[in-house]
Amino acid sequence: MRVRISSPGWRARSLEINHALLVSFPLCLRVPKAQMQLDVQTLVVAVAVASGFSAAARTILWRLHPAIPGLVHWVWAAVMGAVSFMLMATRGQIFGPTGLSVAQTLIVVGYGFAWNGFRLFLGKAPLSRPVLTVLATAAVVPALVFGAEATLIARSAVNSFLVMTISFIIARELFLSATQRHVAMRITAWVYGANAAAFLARGLTLLQEEPPAGLMPTGTPPVLALLWWLCMSLAVTLCMVLMAGERLQMDLNEQVSRDPLTGVFNRRAFFMMADHEVAQLRRSGEPLSVLMMDIDLFKQINDRFGHAVGDEVLRRFTALALRLLRQEDVFARMGGEEFVALLPRSSVEMAMAVAERLRVTFAVESLGWGDLESVPITVSIGVAALGGQEDIQALLHRADNALYHAKNDGRNLTRLADGVMAAG
Ligand code: GH3
Ligand code: MG
Ligand code: MG
Repeated sequence: MRVRISSPGWRARSLEINHALLVSFPLCLRVPKAQMQLDVQTLVVAVAVASGFSAAARTILWRLHPAIPGLVHWVWAAVMGAVSFMLMATRGQIFGPTGLSVAQTLIVVGYGFAWNGFRLFLGKAPLSRPVLTVLATAAVVPALVFGAEATLIARSAVNSFLVMTISFIIARELFLSATQRHVAMRITAWVYGANAAAFLARGLTLLQEEPPAGLMPTGTPPVLALLWWLCMSLAVTLCMVLMAGERLQMDLNEQVSRDPLTGVFNRRAFFMMADHEVAQLRRSGEPLSVLMMDIDLFKQINDRFGHAVGDEVLRRFTALALRLLRQEDVFARMGGEEFVALLPRSSVEMAMAVAERLRVTFAVESLGWGDLESVPITVSIGVAALGGQEDIQALLHRADNALYHAKNDGRNLTRLADGVMAAG
C-alpha cells in the first residue's frame, strides 16, 4: 500500500507558509533597526564595575606571580580606569565638571601604567623621565586648558588620540618582542592594535560631534565607545593572564632543558634537538657529526682544589666550547664532566678539525688559569659521523667508544670512531 505523504490541501498550506516567510523575512531584517535601549549613564557604571573586576583579577595575578615584573603596574592601570569611570558615573551629582577633568586625566595615567607594565614585563627599562613628563603634561594640561564641561568634546578628543598613541606603542613593542612561540603576546598586540584603531575612529567622530546638552553625552557614538571600553577592559585582563601563563610555561620549559651549573642544554633537551636534526638532515642527505667530550682526570681536580673549583672548570670549558662552535651546533652537558656537541652539515673531516681545535685550545688556555697552574687540565674527544640508517643513540654509542680509545691511549687526544659511513 502506498502511503500518501502529501495532498493538494497540504501543498496549498505549505505554499502559504513559504509565501508568508518570504514576505516577512525582509521585515525581520528590519526589526534590529529599532533603537537599542542602552543609556550612557548605565554603561559608564558597567565600565566602572568591569574595571574594578579587572583590578581585582590583576591583583590576584600579581600576588600569585610576584616574580614576574610589571604586573603591579597593570593593577594600577585597572584601578585608574575604575576610579575614572566611577567619577564619570557620579559627575554632576558629587564632583561636577572637576570630577570629569580628573577622570579624563586618570584615563591617560592608567594607560601610562599599562605601558610601563608591558615594558617591565618585556624586560625593558621603565618609561624614561622625558617620556613620563610628556605623558603627565598631555594628561594634565588639557584639564587646565579646557576645564569646564563646555569643552568636554575637545577634551575627550585629545584623550582619544592619547589613548590611541599609547595603544599603538604598546602593540608595536609587543609585536617586536614576540617570537613565533609567543602566541598570547601576539594576541595582546593585536588587541592593542585594534584599540588604537578604535580610538582613532572615536577621536575623529568626537571632532565632528555637537557638545551635549547636559553633562552626559548622548547618541550612538558614546554608546559604542563605552561598549568598546567594556570589552577592552575584560579582553586586556584576559590577555595579561594569558601572557603571564605563557611566560611561566616558557620559564618552565627553559628550566627543564638547561643545565643549572653551565646554562647549556641538558641531556634531555639534547636528545630532543638531536632527533629533530637527524630527521631533517637525513631528508636533505647532508652530513652530521658528533663530538663526545670528557674532561681528563677531573676527579683529581676536585680532590685537590675542591668541588667549587671543579665547577668553575666546567663553566670555563663550556664558555670555550660555545666560543669555538658555530651558532647552529648543539652543545650540551650530558652529566658530570661529560659534554656533547652535535655538528649539523659537518663532514667527519670538519668535525675532527673542530675537535682538535677545541682540545688544543682548552689545553693551552687552562695553562693560563693562575689558580690551577700546577695541574694540566685537558679533554679527550671521540668523534663520529652519522652513517646509513643509524639513529642518534647508535651514533653516540660509537662516539663514546672513540672517546674510550682516546682515554686508553693516554688522554688529551681526539679519536675517530670505527665504521664511519659519513653521508656526504
Ligand atoms: P677520566 O680522565 O678517566 O675521565 O677520569 P675522571 O677523573 O675525569 O673521571 P671519573 O669518572 O673518575 O670522575 C668524574 C668526576 O667528576 C667524579 C665526580 O665527583 C665529578 N663530578 C661530577 N659532576 C660534577 C659537578 O657537577 N661538579 C664537580 N665539581 N664535579 C663533578
Ligand atoms: Mg673525566
Ligand atoms: Mg666521565
